Amino acid sequence: MSIQLDDAVEQAAQWLRDADALLITAGAGMGIDSGLPDFRGNHGFWRVYPALGLQGRLFHEIASPGAFHEVPRLAWGFYGHRLNMYRQIEPHAGFGLLKAWGDALPHGAFVFTSNVDGHFAKVGFAPERITECHGSIHTFQCLNRCEPELWPADGWQPVIDEVRCHLMSPLPTCPRCGAIARPNILMFNDWDWVPDRMLQKRALLDAWLGKVDRLVVIELGAGLAIPTIRQFSERHGPRVVRINPEDFRIDSTVGVSVRSTALAALQMIDVRLGKLS
Ligand SMILES: [Zn+2]
Repeated sequence: MSIQLDDAVEQAAQWLRDADALLITAGAGMGIDSGLPDFRGNHGFWRVYPALGLQGRLFHEIASPGAFHEVPRLAWGFYGHRLNMYRQIEPHAGFGLLKAWGDALPHGAFVFTSNVDGHFAKVGFAPERITECHGSIHTFQCLNRCEPELWPADGWQPVIDEVRCHLMSPLPTCPRCGAIARPNILMFNDWDWVPDRMLQKRALLDAWLGKVDRLVVIELGAGLAIPTIRQFSERHGPRVVRINPEDFRIDSTVGVSVRSTALAALQMIDVRLGKLS
């Protein structure tokens, strides 16, 4: 362990010990230690979905409402596979550490994440304390947005031909108009995404932020490509702990950087908390 890393971990533990509230901000890197695939770049995307590679389909093409209109069984082959995967995989132990740290603070923890996997809820964070800024795969909406209404994906069990990335079972439909249903995820070229649920949660988060005095922010695996999460963290400094194995830099007036993957960093901080508590 370098001195620098050691100091950053110590600083994170110190801030957590003094904090009255914990804001957790998370990007795609948070899920890697749970065994979730990394979609970054078309190469990574096609390695996970070779059928889409054979068709030369780019990530931003399949992750779009247009794909649900034009090739719905292929689009649902991709999203249905992910829904099954996120349901099946257990979040790594770092989620539980964050939950325990938050539970010990007077104002508890809130989550702001771009991940659509629902894994913070899976480990017991209260749904009203989780803002999913890009939506969730576990919530559906009408593809034609006949009403800005959302409903849970619970009970829909997609059967996927993984070789063809193709939905074999019936397409999910809108209970109101019968059109195809889609996940309530903000996609590319998406003008029909229903943000209502996200905005309601965001209002609760903002109200909570107005009440806390000594906030510590722990940011995990948030990349530079879509900087929403990083910018949100930085707005809530000066005690931001940026955990990232690659894009770890942060201005020292805003926080400290822990150059590490998510789980390893959280475990290092937990050891330090245990030593001094
Ligand atoms: Zn509809």
